[in-house]
Amino acid sequence: MKTAEELRNILDRIDHRGYPAYKDTKGSYDFGKYVLTIEHVQGDPFAAPSRVSLKVSGRTAGFPASLYGEKHRRVALQDYLLRQVGRMVEEFSFRARGSGKSGLMWVSRCGQEILERSACEVDSADGSVLLRMEIGFPANGRTVNSGELKKILFDFLPQCVGRTLFYAALPAEKLKENAELADDQLFIRENLEKAGLVAFIADGAVLPRASGVSDRPMQGAVPFKAPESLAVTLTLPHKGKLRGMGIPKGITMIAGGGYHGKSTLLEAIERGVYNHIAGDGREYVITDDTAVKIRAEDGRSIKKADISLFIRNLPNGRDTKAFSSEDASGSTSQAAAVVEAMEAGAGVLLIDEDTSATNFMIRDELMQRVVNRNMEPIIPFIDRVRELYEKEGLSTVLVAGSSGSYFRKADCIIQMDCYKPVDITEFAKQEAEKFPVFLAETPAYERPSFDRRPAPDGAFWGNERLKLKAMGLDGISLNKEVIDLRYVEQLVDTEQLNALGYLLRYAGRHLFNGKSTLAEIAERLGTLLEEKGLSFLEEGGGLPVGLAMPRKQEILACMNRFRSLKMTGWEMERKR
Ligand code: ADP
Ligand code: MG
Repeated sequence: MKTAEELRNILDRIDHRGYPAYKDTKGSYDFGKYVLTIEHVQGDPFAAPSRVSLKVSGRTAGFPASLYGEKHRRVALQDYLLRQVGRMVEEFSFRARGSGKSGLMWVSRCGQEILERSACEVDSADGSVLLRMEIGFPANGRTVNSGELKKILFDFLPQCVGRTLFYAALPAEKLKENAELADDQLFIRENLEKAGLVAFIADGAVLPRASGVSDRPMQGAVPFKAPESLAVTLTLPHKGKLRGMGIPKGITMIAGGGYHGKSTLLEAIERGVYNHIAGDGREYVITDDTAVKIRAEDGRSIKKADISLFIRNLPNGRDTKAFSSEDASGSTSQAAAVVEAMEAGAGVLLIDEDTSATNFMIRDELMQRVVNRNMEPIIPFIDRVRELYEKEGLSTVLVAGSSGSYFRKADCIIQMDCYKPVDITEFAKQEAEKFPVFLAETPAYERPSFDRRPAPDGAFWGNERLKLKAMGLDGISLNKEVIDLRYVEQLVDTEQLNALGYLLRYAGRHLFNGKSTLAEIAERLGTLLEEKGLSFLEEGGGLPVGLAMPRKQEILACMNRFRSLKMTGWEMERKR
């Protein structure tokens, strides 16, 4: 390893030379309190910025093992550190000047959710801290301006990390609170199952967001308060007693008039698969972390999904046991979403009528009388929702303000009344009894087949020039093709999409073999992420700065939407 002084010498030597001379700075330098590694140097001042990492040894960083020994605490510490660094870096970014991206200093920006990110890693064994960031190496035109880079590396950066990556520089009390919140969140998550719940929403929680474009809590919102009959009181390890609404396993319907807060409650439950930061308003809203939001998604692609549970006997004779479409309808897309969620191991389905295909959700009585069952390919979700729970243990939380049909099916009915939940289960059930039912016979339940196996495609995946790019939260582009993820609503951070791109590439290179099923592949990736974090995605060229951990469910959702994915399975088997 070289010394910081040597880096200074290199910079002095290359000043005023052509930009590529910056490549000479690649390497690791001992800065005393940390090691700076220049991993990748940009080709010119307008290209993607250079990548550097800083590693502080465990002893120098000085965090007590209690803050990082357990995984949930480590993730919370990483998140905390990254937010502190982020604030500092923002102050210094572009203070050094020049053309193009000269002077840019950037670390991942964290939103309201606490995610594991490649930007900051604390080693669970020795407590060392690794920070990854991007720096725009300064230039005048296309000439090296190493004086400006010296400001960044020898002045700004030491200030940024000096006040953030060391235990002694941080408020111990805040770090403790941060870790304790993580303990409490984990406690709730682990106790959902025991308490027979799929979600917990604490009293006092603030569910609505500031606006459609801001994920921060709404000011002056009506705080959440559980109705007595659904109230659960948990005793958290640090916060102590916490009362809130427990959504029981089974089928729960969220009813109520328009604008009374139904969708807001469901959205909070959707996000509850992640932990939220203190002050978010949803830090004690915790959902079974396998829960999957299901919605209609016209136009998506479907590959050999067995949707026969919901759709069969199509007029064109198309097979629905291995159904493919490049332009799915609302109902077929939603049917595929349910089956794919099962394939991804979901324990809960979250559905909002606002974003559902009506013909997938219900068929009213009159329609059942007039159009005979055998003329209707769709077996609506309402006719399967109980079987899904009873045979698969798959719960459903459903927002329905306009159709009372689900009253009969639901175990629990919550009415949102001016943003306050009211338990109306008994009343709604009584009223439902008064309506005679005409029920067409539903074909027997048959477990869907999950026999879908991505075929190997070495030419595509092995290509060194395979281009991956996340497009905000909208999707990923792979070479020229776009994987549309706009409607995969539990993706909350662009960096998760970055990671999905790398995960897909990894799967393409190592796991798509025509033998492993999609579910097995997602499971394998989930295990790798769990055990190794994001680092196994590094395949030459270093780990990108901005990756955030997605769930197994979104990994599968992403593969399911990749139109060029070659899939074998089903048909092949049956022909034998
Ligand atoms: P619904 O789905 O029942 O039609 P929404 O959940 O979309 O209703 O909520 C309607 C509006 O009320 C939204 O603008 C939302 O931000 C706001 N809102 C939701 N919950 C609260 C609350 N607890 N306090 C204040 N405003 C809220
Ligand atoms: Mg709504």
